[in-house]
Amino acid sequence: MKLAVLSRAPHAYSTQRLRAAAQQRGHDVKVLNTLKFAIDLTADEPDLHFRGKPLSDYDAILPRIGSSITYFGTAVVRQFEQMDVYTPNTANGISSARDKLRASQILSRHNIAMPATAFVRNRADVRPAIERVGGAPVVIKLLEGTQGIGVILAPQVKVAEAIIETLHSTNQNVLIQKFISESRGRDIRALVVGDRVVAAMRRVAAGDEFRSNVHRGGSVEAVQLDPVYEQAAVRSAQIMGLRVAGVDMLEGDDGPLVMEVNSSPGLQGIEAATKLDVAGAIIDYIAGQVAFPEIDVRQR
Ligand code: ADP
Repeated sequence: MKLAVLSRAPHAYSTQRLRAAAQQRGHDVKVLNTLKFAIDLTADEPDLHFRGKPLSDYDAILPRIGSSITYFGTAVVRQFEQMDVYTPNTANGISSARDKLRASQILSRHNIAMPATAFVRNRADVRPAIERVGGAPVVIKLLEGTQGIGVILAPQVKVAEAIIETLHSTNQNVLIQKFISESRGRDIRALVVGDRVVAAMRRVAAGDEFRSNVHRGGSVEAVQLDPVYEQAAVRSAQIMGLRVAGVDMLEGDDGPLVMEVNSSPGLQGIEAATKLDVAGAIIDYIAGQVAFPEIDVRQR
């Protein structure tokens, strides 16, 4: 197949691995900088230009859209969708997953267990919301934070109120979430490709930190997931419209609590922790979804 990996980071580990995995399997793969596309809405047929020239034909794309360019990036992905180019992650899926509140609303409608969460804006609603999710200590999250930045554990209700008021005064939207103390600074990242988990790891926070992000000094270990966790991860990705996703779950007393579904999961940590060829699994899945003319011939 002819595959375009949409990425602004051609030298990043994940991009390199995806390119290498595609080449090893004999595919024609290009890494195209998402910001170098021009969306052409003047012609009768949906069209795209890349670096000023009409784009050649592709069978599939793999979008790796960074959070700073979600709007333009998803517009490019949507244009590919309109051109009938296969993408494992749709523009809608990527933009819904990127917004923590929108993702929580969608997942909770489908009975995915998540930490109790509230979203308020009025000052008088803050304290009741904190009480409703279980009181202090309570987790406060900026809606569009990544890598653990903007995730705060407030030890007392008064402190939580002060933090939330401060954030509201600077026009930031925040989620108020139950602190899942039994997860003890650990979380699970499950890499979903299609309808299965191809790799999973546990991230463990450093020292007394409650956030297990590797960017916050967390360490990683491979885990064999319980089927309940696998199902929660696969269902969450499918509900969000993502066929390639990193699903983050806390280990609650009653089973998995889904926190987040990531549409451009990093491959370095999980491949290092599990020694699995996650990039290869992603490429094989995409190739399987693309209708090859050769296969049509063989089937005839
Ligand atoms: P980000 O998207 O910035 O990584 P997360 O919502 O995933 O933010 O939170 C970062 C980390 O903080 C998680 O990986 C987890 O270890 C910890 N954490 C987040 N929410 C909770 C919670 N409700 N209870 C306990 N720990 C949490």
